[in-house]
Amino acid sequence: MSGKYATETLDVDEGGIARAAQILRDDGLVAVPTETVYGLAARADSDAAVARIYRAKGRPSFNPLIVHVASLEQARSLAEISPEAEQLAARYWPGPLTLVLPRRRNAGLSAAVTAGLDTLALRMPSHPAMRLLLESTGLPIAAPSANRSGFISPTSPAHVLASLDGRIDAVLDGGECERGLESTIAAVRADGSVEVLRPGPIALEAGGSSGERIEAPGQLASHYAPGKPVRLDATQVAPDDFMIGFGSVQGDCTLSARGDLAEAAARLYACLHEGARSDKPRIAIAPIPERGIGIAINDRLRRAATPAD
Ligand code: AMP
Ligand code: MG
Repeated sequence: MSGKYATETLDVDEGGIARAAQILRDDGLVAVPTETVYGLAARADSDAAVARIYRAKGRPSFNPLIVHVASLEQARSLAEISPEAEQLAARYWPGPLTLVLPRRRNAGLSAAVTAGLDTLALRMPSHPAMRLLLESTGLPIAAPSANRSGFISPTSPAHVLASLDGRIDAVLDGGECERGLESTIAAVRADGSVEVLRPGPIALEAGGSSGERIEAPGQLASHYAPGKPVRLDATQVAPDDFMIGFGSVQGDCTLSARGDLAEAAARLYACLHEGARSDKPRIAIAPIPERGIGIAINDRLRRAATPAD
């Protein structure tokens, strides 16, 4: 992929990881594969590095970032981990679960990471490339999805470069992301209750009084938007539709012909990117069952169908 792009592409090998780690130490930006989507990584303890994330993405400054850690010990140095949070971490880390926890003051994080909140969103990812970077730098790493703010999330290096070429230093090429959807975000409150703020690959039973209420600062109604009208629950194709199929509804791109929701999640953004690029002026999407990870898929689709203002 070199030559065509201003942004450097790095292989996931010793040299590539070392180069990515050096860029991060120097306050640069590297798009990195994770098990969810590609993240735009920067050291979370540097104001200059974190400011670059917001600038490269065009992200509103009130939308806080998730900080990634290599270990529970590192997580403890940044936030207060209650026994309830500890249980969730023991069960789901490393993996696609982000915990929103009371943040420790003087933990050395850039204030922009939390957008002024008293809480901090933390995750320990399982992807080997991301883990190597976290371990070799020893740094807490802020990493929102590696796309321009409001646009479709990236699940491949090509998606990253289509959105951010020339705006970031490098992309670490780990191929396609396994899960394909952003992490589940759960807030662990002082009374020990758990509130799901964003549905994702891990289906948690929300123990909070508000149950399934979904709200996070910066969880904008319009997001993941392909830049053309999107129609949900479509069973008929119109001539000017790029159809995204599921199960028995066949499409120009099909999420999962056998109706497998995990496969559909992994392919969702690739199909949306294809629809965005096609000459068809509209995108139509087959109905997706509202169960398991289908809940998270439908959450993202509703945001993709809401026009930006
Ligand atoms: P992204 O990494 O682009 O998928 O977005 C990260 C998500 O994490 C956004 O929706 C934020 O609102 C959410 N988030 C980050 N920090 C916090 C926090 N302290 N409290 C609640 N939500 C948060
Ligand atoms: Mg995002």
